[in-house]
Parts: sequence; structure tokens; C-alpha cells
Amino acid sequence: MTEDASADAATDGGVVEHRKLIVAGTGISGLTAAIYAARSNNEPLVFEGTEPGGQLTLTTEVDNYPGFPEGISGPELVNNMKEQAKRFGAEVKNGVLKSVDDSSRPFRVELTNGDVYTADAVIAASGASARTLGIPGEDDLMGYGLSTCATCDGAFFRDEKIVVVGGGDAAMEEANFLTKFASTVYLVHRREEFRAEDYWIDRVHEKVESGDIELMLNTEVTELHGTPEDGVDHVTMVRHPEGHPTDKLDDPETEEFEFDAGAVFYAIGHTPNTEYLEGTSVQMDDEGYLKTKGGFDGGQTATDVEGLFGAGDVVDYHYQQAITAGGMGCKAAIDADDYLESLERAETEQTEPAAAESDD
Ligand SMILES: Cc1cc2nc3c(=O)[nH]c(=O)nc-3n(C[C@H](O)[C@H](O)[C@H](O)COP(=O)(O)OP(=O)(O)OC[C@H]3O[C@@H](n4cnc5c(N)ncnc54)[C@H](O)[C@@H]3O)c2cc1C
Repeated sequence: MTEDASADAATDGGVVEHRKLIVAGTGISGLTAAIYAARSNNEPLVFEGTEPGGQLTLTTEVDNYPGFPEGISGPELVNNMKEQAKRFGAEVKNGVLKSVDDSSRPFRVELTNGDVYTADAVIAASGASARTLGIPGEDDLMGYGLSTCATCDGAFFRDEKIVVVGGGDAAMEEANFLTKFASTVYLVHRREEFRAEDYWIDRVHEKVESGDIELMLNTEVTELHGTPEDGVDHVTMVRHPEGHPTDKLDDPETEEFEFDAGAVFYAIGHTPNTEYLEGTSVQMDDEGYLKTKGGFDGGQTATDVEGLFGAGDVVDYHYQQAITAGGMGCKAAIDADDYLESLERAETEQTEPAAAESDD
């Protein structure tokens, strides 16, 4: 877009500002995209959303991000990245995207506070939020014995009794993985039957037979006890022979008990943060994860909406790691740069013949 066109856009319909590139999210993927985009002179405007710094701010210690032999705290890693992005000219602002209008170009991006921006390209790096139970103790202990990521935090709980909550594939996989560290894994599920694939159920049953996993069926965790200093100490659970005990708390058959545990892992799924894209024609899967082109050539992070790119956990429901999110953020910034250059080339080609005619 030319400077004049940008100025027009900026005075149109209460638009605060026109930008080449808007990035939704300041998690690892959004900040990596911001570093690359800023170094390509695309002056990205990066919105923080409701969780500035993203999921890594929920963890005290990141031990598997390359380059930090002694580990680094999640908030410190994210703040370093933010400073790095700002050093190259990225602008990081408070703001939550409410909607993106892709019916014409530039995109119209509206925030929940009513501000409207226009942008030639948008990178959706808005992550996925781990589902929680909403029980007492959760807020205080998240990152201090309570976790939603076994790959990330399992190794901190060697020889502890670890409770895993959930009954789907993720719970089976996490329970299986955590047997590497735990004295015993207690898999807590609110029903009698698991809804995981047979493959995972078979793996878990093998570990039950070897004594590494104990099943606690028809059971739910209702409270977590402990302190941020000492971590999780024990949990309160309820059990009913027909399942879903928290729906039957007044039933005399419901039994409440305390259970010692050194750590609790929730594996009850993630919700991708894509509500603000629901009005666009972008393709998502049944759960709301963004679909991108993928493959091995350039443009892997492109969605089917031209100029809209997706990176990190909002796309990737499988790996969901900081390093993979960062890698995708880098790709999205490079893909967006290619796209922005193609727009500039098209504009030059349109204006050059006209200029040549006026020279005659
Ligand atoms: C407790 C815990 C511990 C973890 N530990 C590790 C670890 O040790 N090692 C590791 O590799 N991985 C770890 N992970 C996983 C890692 O945090 C994620 O894979 C990574 O943060 C994903 O980055 P992301 O940028 O894609 O998304 P996120 O980190 O989820 O960031 C999303 C960003 O988008 C913003 N956003 C959302 N909606 C909007 C909107 N509408 N408008 C604007 N912005 C929006 C949010 O506010 C946030 O800033 C851990 C995760 C958790 C939960």
C-alpha cells in the first residue's frame, strides 16, 4: 500500500492506524515472528491479548529451551524475547483482537476496546489455552506442582506420586510418559470407561500390570492443597460407583477422601484461541485449530485466507512446545514478508505503466 493509501485508511471509519503487519499474541510464536518481521522492516504491531507472554508465563522453570544450560524461568525467557523484538522496532501493545474482517483488503482488525486497525497481513499466534477444572488451589499452585504439560514439567517430579487427570488420548499419553519419573502415576478419570484410542488404553493397561500406573476410576479431584514454596502436598477427591461424582455430592454413596501427591497434571485438553477469526473464511478443524498449508516448500504457515498466517499452538495441536512454536513464528514472519513483497511488486507493476504513459 502507498503512503497516501495508508493515510486514507487511517482516516477511514475511526481507524486508529494502518500497519503492514499485525501479530496477535506475545507468546513464543508471536514474539519470534515479531523479531523476524521487525528485522525485515515490516514494523509489526504485536498485541498481547489477555495473557501477555503466553503459556510460558505459567511455568517457573524451562529446562528444555536450547541455549540455557542452567534452565530459565518462563517469564524471563518471554521478557528477553520481547526486548529483542523491540530492539529491532516491533511495537508491543496491550489489546485483545475481537474480530478480523477479511472481506476486503487491507484487513480490518477490531479490538475488544473498540479500536480498529487496518493491516496488509496478519499473523495469528494466539496459542491454545489448557483447560482447567476451576477448583480451589488451582490458581495458587499452577506452575508450583500443578502443570498442564508433562513433556515440559515431568522431570521436576522424580520419585513423586503423580496424579494425572483425564480420560482421553492426551491423558493416556501423559500418564504413560510420566511413569519415567514418578514412583507411581495415579490416573484419575470421572467415568468407568476411557474415551481414548485402543492403542493408548493398551499401553496404560500394560503399565497398570507392571505397577507403574494405578487407575482411579469414577473419581474426580475437587481441591488441591499445598503452597507455592513447597508445591502440591495432597488433593481432595470424590468417588461414586456410577461415575461423575461431583454431580452427586449429596448422594450417600459418594465418598470424599484425601490423597497424598507430589504433583498433579491436567490432561483434559486445550482450547485454541481463534474466536476472533470466526467471522473470516479461514479454515479450522472441528476443535478450532487453524489449518495452514504445511508441507516443505515456502508458505507453510499460510492459511487459505491470503495474507493471514498461523503459527504456534493455535495451529499445532500435537507438539505444543516453546521451540516448535518459535520455529513456526519464524516461518510465519518469512511467509508474511514474501506476501508483503508480492503486494508491493504488484502495486509497482500497476503504477509503472501509468507513469510510462504520462511520460509520452
Ligand atoms: C504450565 C506449562 C508449562 C510449559 N512448559 C514448557 C517447557 O518447559 N518447555 C516448552 O517447550 N514448552 C512448555 N510449555 C508449552 C509452551 O508454553 C507452549 O507450547 C508455547 O507457549 C506456545 O506458544 P504460542 O506463542 O503458540 O502460544 P501461547 O504461549 O499460548 O501465547 C498465545 C498468546 O496469544 C495471545 N492471545 C490469545 N488470544 C488473543 C487475541 N484474541 N488477541 C490478541 N492476543 C491473543 C495470548 O494473550 C498470548 O499472549 C508449557 C506450557 C504450560 C501451560
